[in-house]
Amino acid sequence: MTIQQAKDLRSWIEVTNESDFPLFNLPLGVFSIDDETARCGTRIGDTAIDLGGMQQLGYFSDLDLPDDIFVQETLNDFISLGKNTHRNWRKRMMEIFDKDNGSLRNNAAHRQEVLHPVSEIQMMMPVFVQDYTDFYSSREHATNVGIMFRGKENALMPNWLHIPVGYHGRSSSIVVSGVDIHRPKGQQLPADAETPVFGPSKMMDFELEMAFITTDGKPMGHRITAEEAEDYIFGMVVFNDWSARDIQKWEYVPLGPFLGKNFGSSISPWIVTLDALDIFRCASPEQNPKPLPYLQTAGEHTFDINLEVTIAPKGENDTTVCRSNFKYLYWNMAQQLAHHTVNGCNINAGDMMASGTISGPTEDSFGSMLELCWKGTKPIPMKDGSERKFLQDHDTVIMKAHCEKEGFRLGFGEVRSTIIPAIND
Ligand code: MN
Repeated sequence: MTIQQAKDLRSWIEVTNESDFPLFNLPLGVFSIDDETARCGTRIGDTAIDLGGMQQLGYFSDLDLPDDIFVQETLNDFISLGKNTHRNWRKRMMEIFDKDNGSLRNNAAHRQEVLHPVSEIQMMMPVFVQDYTDFYSSREHATNVGIMFRGKENALMPNWLHIPVGYHGRSSSIVVSGVDIHRPKGQQLPADAETPVFGPSKMMDFELEMAFITTDGKPMGHRITAEEAEDYIFGMVVFNDWSARDIQKWEYVPLGPFLGKNFGSSISPWIVTLDALDIFRCASPEQNPKPLPYLQTAGEHTFDINLEVTIAPKGENDTTVCRSNFKYLYWNMAQQLAHHTVNGCNINAGDMMASGTISGPTEDSFGSMLELCWKGTKPIPMKDGSERKFLQDHDTVIMKAHCEKEGFRLGFGEVRSTIIPAIND
């Protein structure tokens, strides 16, 4: 597929030029209507499509899908079916919704049953996340944080240019866009103090990340090579890795992040497949020193995805605080997955692997408040006249991601979540 072919693909459902969801996108998600049963679906323009309903009406009858594969609370079972099935489904959807195809377009009863305005649906977690890993793959972010925590000389740890560094995070507290996050409480060591105090975090931060969702992998003991890694990646979402910097700073040596991170992470609800992103491939930063052979990749394994973070204080307009791009990441997803499994670690459909904070080379492209305000020394002015060093209660953080090339746009929508006060218990 070329950009032009994707652009020429027109649906009989209205899609504006500014929409993230042209017919070529076909992201997967899970939604409910009036709190009734969850169903798997996709989206074209501002129309949500009930795939469970489409299957029951026979639109996928020759695709050999298990019965009611889309009448489920998660996409895990569909993801488990593998890439060939996903591609057959995608092809069929492009046919049915093509502007010249009348099969569903001309059937008012069927349309009524399976098409819904997105304003009338509630998005839910798209997958059951059994395991969640967070990488640390932006050289700019690792360098910035290293300078702040350890000084300029020791900014990048000696292993960083050789290993896609990561840690196993908490999957139970990954929530979908729209779910409020309570300010976490925990231990912090105030500046110049020798003993810790306990209370709500005073250094509440976001991390601008993207995450990929895997298919089933290989049996334990077998690895997925960098070459074949993308066959095991279903798609991507925008990922906000909420971080309490004061809790994190006191606890992170020697085993890394714990309560500073595990109280919540937020994702955008629509999973955009690698097949939809394929036309936006681009080169990654040059890697020097050359990684070990198991981490070497040929060709282009990253994507040109524009990222943006805005903060909206309660009842106020939002202020854009960061513009970055997924392509800045030093380690690509194929390298991350190859590294994750090289020791024989197995993966499952629905596992989520986040990129690490995606900071770019310029100060306005840093992907966290910690970096944007440089540890609180450079507050960000907000449109309402206030300023921020870290997030305040009732601040809403909105992260958006989209690709755009030759006038063709495709995107992820957004992840939007509000920090609410710590629970007083
Ligand atoms: Mn992170």
